Amino acid sequence: MTRHNPSGSATPASLGPQLPSPLREVADERFARRGLRLLLKRDDLIHTDLPGNKWRKLEPNLRAAAQDGRHTLLTFGGAYSNHLRATAAAGRLLGFATIGVVRGDELAGRPLNWSLARCAADGMELRFVDRATYRRKTEPEVLASLAPPEDCLVIPEGGSNAAAALGCAALGRELRGAADVVGVACGTGGTLAGLAAGLEQGQRAIGFPVLKGGFLGAEIRRLQQEAFGGVRGDWLLEERFHCGGYARTSPELDAFADDFTARHGLPLERLYVAKMLLGLTTLAEEGAFAPGTTVAAVVTGAAPAQPADSSR
Ligand SMILES: *Cc1c(COP(=O)(O)O)cnc(C)c1O
Repeated sequence: MTRHNPSGSATPASLGPQLPSPLREVADERFARRGLRLLLKRDDLIHTDLPGNKWRKLEPNLRAAAQDGRHTLLTFGGAYSNHLRATAAAGRLLGFATIGVVRGDELAGRPLNWSLARCAADGMELRFVDRATYRRKTEPEVLASLAPPEDCLVIPEGGSNAAAALGCAALGRELRGAADVVGVACGTGGTLAGLAAGLEQGQRAIGFPVLKGGFLGAEIRRLQQEAFGGVRGDWLLEERFHCGGYARTSPELDAFADDFTARHGLPLERLYVAKMLLGLTTLAEEGAFAPGTTVAAVVTGAAPAQPADSSR
């Protein structure tokens, strides 16, 4: 009742998320041949505009923002960021102003690509910054130079903060008793940090980074420390399946994703989900999982209605 609510009535819960998300077994001979079961955890079905882990990570932040009387969300992302689109949509649905800080000042003078155009259509103010500045975005001076409004909640890139990791722990809890191994794609690592913490003893999580090299393991430990007071769960990173790096693809990845869609009738989100499924399938074929293992793949997002515009 006392909660501040910019739009008058809408709260995240009033948006009707489909939770817990469906868990469905698919018959895939590459797994069956090895005595393995493959389950798809359909987080992509949680909400149309805030799909997958974007719902799980944004929801606690949106609730906190409303409770603290904040009217504006400021966050960061690349030119095709799923997180920027989800934040812009959340702003439209819940009555927050949104500011998106976009990596790459060369984009400023050009027509918006489909993803940024959707952010703008949802009312997001886009601010383009050069890559060197973007890399320093967590430094206080850089943040100050962006002059966030006083009533602003600043959400880190990818939405990954302690609140987000706590939100993603629910994903792990929903999978208790249902799988031995859980695969998830990683960008900033917030989803894996929470997922691994929510699983129970004996379950393990495998993260598939879609970016090349880096400090993701340290970042996940930092997020777990902040959210849970220490490193939690049994998790590791499998670094072989970035397919060239963020938003890059390879002929092998494209062939795999097309074939997966043909087998199972599910179009795959290509920046993250396809790489994770290629990784899990390759591990299964390499004999990495003992017969009898149930493998759950988290479908963290949906294939966008508009295909990525490779011409920008
Ligand atoms: C953002 C995103 C991820 C990455 O999540 P992190 O918490 O940043 O690791 C994975 N899959 C999809 C579909 C995403 O949109």
